[in-house]
Amino acid sequence: MNALLVGIKRRLQTAGAKSPDAAIAAAEDKATAAANFTCCVCGFRSKSTTEVLHLNGNHDDISARNLSGVCALCHPYHHIGERTPAARSQGEKVAHQTRLMRVPTVADGGISAGDLNHLFRAIACALNDPGERENALKVLQVINEATVFAKASWGTASPRDFHAAMLALSDSEYAHRGEAVEDLRLAFHEHLLTAIGSKLQAEQSGLPVANWTELLARTLVKLESHAPADAEAAQ
Ligand SMILES: [Zn+2]
Ligand SMILES: [Zn+2]
Repeated sequence: MNALLVGIKRRLQTAGAKSPDAAIAAAEDKATAAANFTCCVCGFRSKSTTEVLHLNGNHDDISARNLSGVCALCHPYHHIGERTPAARSQGEKVAHQTRLMRVPTVADGGISAGDLNHLFRAIACALNDPGERENALKVLQVINEATVFAKASWGTASPRDFHAAMLALSDSEYAHRGEAVEDLRLAFHEHLLTAIGSKLQAEQSGLPVANWTELLARTLVKLESHAPADAEAAQ
């Protein structure tokens, strides 16, 4: 699995005529099917929520080698401060549906973006379960508190601010952004998760919500025991 860094679409669209929408839709459908509806980052498979990832960052390049499958939670990492299909379907920008949070790097025992997204999916399903929704909301609140760590170190947890800062980088600075942002993760808003969870439950009614709290407990221990040292001072 690839490490997932927050990033933006920096490249301008290709010059010249854009492919017709029907051609784009056909190429994208073909690509998600070829990817077996599986996210190339976290490995999650879902027919209803898999989106198209443009590997080179150019959304006008619809050649097969540039397209892969990506889940609705890993895709926003490539577009912080921008729109992606899952957020667009609700008429809201991802910028309004996500916050950035700082977690320990994987090398320091922290959680990868892919694993964190598996947890968010469990929360998404729990949000759609009347018996679990209240717990899921409490958990989201705890996770959202981790966004203060980003604010403490960067002055902001807003994806739009990071988007603007990344646009201003040179290509080589951007290519090396991992040194600065490897501990940043996206925390998703309840609305986005509820919408995704509802699709997932319609598609895979057997999704286990019974053991999601156990997954959660393990993750929270990881987040808490490795909270960045400067975070306490900020509280
Ligand atoms: Zn994914
Ligand atoms: Zn994209």
